[in-house]
Amino acid sequence: MSETEFEAVIGLETHVQLNTKSKMFSWSGAGYQKASPNTLVDPVSMALPGTLPVVNKRAVESAIAIGLALNCEIAEVTKFDRKQYTYPDLMKGYQISQYDEPICIDGWIDLPTETPHRVGINRVHMEEDVARLIHIDSPTGGVMHSLLDINRAGVPLMEIVTEPDMRTPDQVEAYITTLQSIIRYLGVGTANMEEGSFRCDANISVRPAGSTELGEKVEVKNMNRVRAVREAVEHEIERQIAAIKRGERIVQETRGWMDGEKYTVTQRSKEDAHDYRYFPEPDIPPLHIGRNWVADIQSQMPELPLAKKQRFIGSWGLSDYDASLLVDSLSSAEYFEAVMKTVGGESESDQASFAKETANWLNGEMARLMHENDVPSIQETRVEPTALAVLVRKFQKREINNNSAKRVFGEMFDNGADPEEVIERLGLASVGDADELAPIIDEVLASNPSAVEDYRSGKTNAIRFLMGQVMKATRGRADAQSVMRLLGEAMDG
Ligand code: ADP
Ligand code: MG
Repeated sequence: MSETEFEAVIGLETHVQLNTKSKMFSWSGAGYQKASPNTLVDPVSMALPGTLPVVNKRAVESAIAIGLALNCEIAEVTKFDRKQYTYPDLMKGYQISQYDEPICIDGWIDLPTETPHRVGINRVHMEEDVARLIHIDSPTGGVMHSLLDINRAGVPLMEIVTEPDMRTPDQVEAYITTLQSIIRYLGVGTANMEEGSFRCDANISVRPAGSTELGEKVEVKNMNRVRAVREAVEHEIERQIAAIKRGERIVQETRGWMDGEKYTVTQRSKEDAHDYRYFPEPDIPPLHIGRNWVADIQSQMPELPLAKKQRFIGSWGLSDYDASLLVDSLSSAEYFEAVMKTVGGESESDQASFAKETANWLNGEMARLMHENDVPSIQETRVEPTALAVLVRKFQKREINNNSAKRVFGEMFDNGADPEEVIERLGLASVGDADELAPIIDEVLASNPSAVEDYRSGKTNAIRFLMGQVMKATRGRADAQSVMRLLGEAMDG
């Protein structure tokens, strides 16, 4: 079937750490990222005999909020199960997880891809994170010894499992970034792949295009950047298609992504797949989730990214693209709204063009300078929303030109400067009106007769040179569009 076109089928399993104060089943702090090793420990997370787990109510509320945001059904009764495996990072010898009665089932997430795509959510279940092993290499090769940091043991972890509904690496990337932004909007986690608070395993199979049967799947692990998930998926699709074309069969297995080398390697095959011997956790009674509780959580849900995006488009006429960039992080969406608070009384079309210009500045210069200066959140910049509003209005009225506006914005960004003060101090108010520009243009035309001659004989490019001369004479303050128009009028007339 060498001529057959192939289609990929992808399902993701994502672990999301919650940012609760305490652990999933015990009282020590869950904020392990900033703690010294083995300082967030208690008898339960150390798995001492005789200790009993107590469910963290806040973690259950976060799980319900995630379920509601993902359009899931919230179970009326949910229970915990023991998943047994032996590895030194799991001191009890089992992990408390959920097997056949997870807290949330049957939801979906709409991806903001060019062609919108809905991905089914199979389930969201609660479990606990494991301890961290740090392997110390021997100078002569191999591992000399391993260190154990218990801080992470027992940190609440949600696993979100999709249906095999994705077909392309673009959809995979959109799923991850959409889920990350939902988690952050809900305020239940940092959803950061690099710091390990968001971990993604990808299940991938391929099949002849048009087929409705599922092919044998391979699970790929070990990706710790969004980019790496995308690359691993792309690579695995290619590897499977190539193998099938060679006449090989895909075998169900787990492969690990080698981020440096950009390929996957076999970790374990189906034959040595774990038998986790799940059974109901005897130390935690089943949890009954009252509908009042769910309604309460529902009533406290923040506006989610998709709804916010649609509101921005509806109220301000923003493009889908601009609105998507703005709602990507809650802080930039809130910042945009703070700038838009300065609007009042203008016509609808003026409001829309102000919104569009504000979005341009936020998604353009602001994003660029934040990136360049490693500023993680717009709230940490020194630019006040009201100050940006002033700059945008002046720029829209062409009271300053594009280059000057960028310069003013640079000062606002660096030291929280007031735009009017910077414009005044640097003398950047544009020389824009015809009265002011006319004598300068006359002067430039008079002293550059050959360029004028060129222009009139059809080498219209000469106007660029003349424009440069006007810019020089105004020390760059002239509005380029006005200059172009006035030069043309003077020479054509
Ligand atoms: P397992 O029993 O191996 O854990 P599941 O049916 O629970 O498999 O699915 C685990 C993940 O793999 C889910 O995200 C699911 O969507 C995805 N998946 C299942 N079958 C396939 C397949 N044939 N191709 C791609 N992904 C799949
Ligand atoms: Mg499964």
